[in-house]
Amino acid sequence: MKIGCPREIKPQEFRVGMTPAAAAEAAAHGHQVLIEAGAGQGAGFADEDYLAAGARIVPDAAAVFAEAEMIVKVKEPQAAERAMLRRGQLLFTYLHLAPDPEQTRDLLASGVTAIAYETVTDARGGLPLLAPMSEVAGRLAPQVGAWALQKANGGRGVLLGGVPGVRPANVLIIGGGVVGAAAARVAVGMGANVTVMDRSLPRLSLLDDLFMGKLTTQHVSAAATADLIQTADMVVGAVLVPGAAAPKLVSRDQLATMPRGAVLVDVAIDQGGCFETSHATTHQDPIYEVDGVIHYCVANMPGAVARTSTQALGNATLPFLLALADKGWRRALQEDAHLRAGLATHEGQLTSPPVGASLGLAA
Ligand code: NAD
Repeated sequence: MKIGCPREIKPQEFRVGMTPAAAAEAAAHGHQVLIEAGAGQGAGFADEDYLAAGARIVPDAAAVFAEAEMIVKVKEPQAAERAMLRRGQLLFTYLHLAPDPEQTRDLLASGVTAIAYETVTDARGGLPLLAPMSEVAGRLAPQVGAWALQKANGGRGVLLGGVPGVRPANVLIIGGGVVGAAAARVAVGMGANVTVMDRSLPRLSLLDDLFMGKLTTQHVSAAATADLIQTADMVVGAVLVPGAAAPKLVSRDQLATMPRGAVLVDVAIDQGGCFETSHATTHQDPIYEVDGVIHYCVANMPGAVARTSTQALGNATLPFLLALADKGWRRALQEDAHLRAGLATHEGQLTSPPVGASLGLAA
C-alpha cells in the first residue's frame, strides 16, 4: 500500500503522524511510504532520517494526498486538507468529530474512509490511542506547575521537593486516571507531598497499591476538596466523565481560601476544565492569574514535547497502521472489533453513532 504522511498544518502543531521508525517498519512490510518534505522537522526528524528508513520525500501535501492510498496524520484534517481527500482513500488520525459539524460534513462529502484514533478501543475498555497523550500531559503537569510556582512566574515561590529542614509542596491531584497517575508519578518523584482524589474507590485502591505509601488517596467529595485546597500549593485537574463536559470541582469563591500564588494546572481543559475560573490558554501564553491563584490551562499540552509525543503516539498507532496496510481496511476492521470502533465515516456514511447523536445526523 502507498502510505502518505503530510506535514501538520494546524497552528502550533509540531507532531507528525509517522516517525522514521514507523516508516522503516512499514517499508519492511513491503509498503511505499511518502513523507512530505519537512514533515518531521517540528519533532526533530529530518528528511534524511525518513530517506534512510526507506521512505520517499515528496515536495508538498498535494503530492501526498494525490498519491497515497492511506493518509496518516495527527490532527483532524484542516479545510485545505479535506479538499484533497477522496473516495477510496483511507484517513487514519485524531478526528474529534462530535463538536465539529463542518469537518464531519466535508469528510462525508469527500467519501473518504476515516478512522479516528480517539475511538479505537482495547480489551481492557481503554482508549489505546488517547492514553499515550494522557501519559504525556500527566507527566508534564507537575513540571509546568513547578515552573508556575516560581516567584518570577507569579507563583508563591515554593520548591516542589522542599529541602532538608523545609517541608515539600502539597500537590493535590483530582482524578486518578491515566493523567492523574502519571502526574502523581512525577510529583512523587520530585519529592512533593501528593494526595490523589478520585470518585472511583477501585482506582484509589490501585493507586494505593502502586505507590506503596508514597502518596495519600482520598475519596472525592465537595468537603474534602474544600479542605485540601486550603493547603495546596498545586492542584492538578485530571478528571474525565466520558462523553460529557468536565464537572466544575473548584469554584471562583473557593480561590480566596487557597494560598496566594498557588497554582492550578487544569489538564481537563480540553473537556471544558474542572475549575470554574479555567479558560483555555496556549503554549505562547500559558498562565494567567485569578484572585491571586495562577492558572495553567493549555489544551494541547503534549505539543510542548512534540518529539516525545510523536514517538509515544507512533508506538501506539503502528500496529493498527500495519494491520490496515497489510490487510486492507475492510479485512483489518472485520478481524479487529477494537479497530472497527474507530471507523467514523465511509463513502459518505457516518458510521459512529455517538458522533451522529451529537450532531443530529443518522449513523
Ligand atoms: P481517565 O478516564 O483515565 O481518568 C479520569 C479519572 O477521573 C477517572 O479515574 C475517574 O474516576 C475520575 N473522575 C471522574 N469524575 C470525577 C470527579 N467528579 N471527581 C474525581 N474524580 C473523577 O482520563 P484521562 O486520560 O486521565 O484524562 C483526564 C483528562 O485529561 C480528560 O479530560 C482528558 O481529555 C484530559 N487531557 C488533556 C490533555 C491536554 O493537553 N490538556 C491531554 C490529555 C488528556
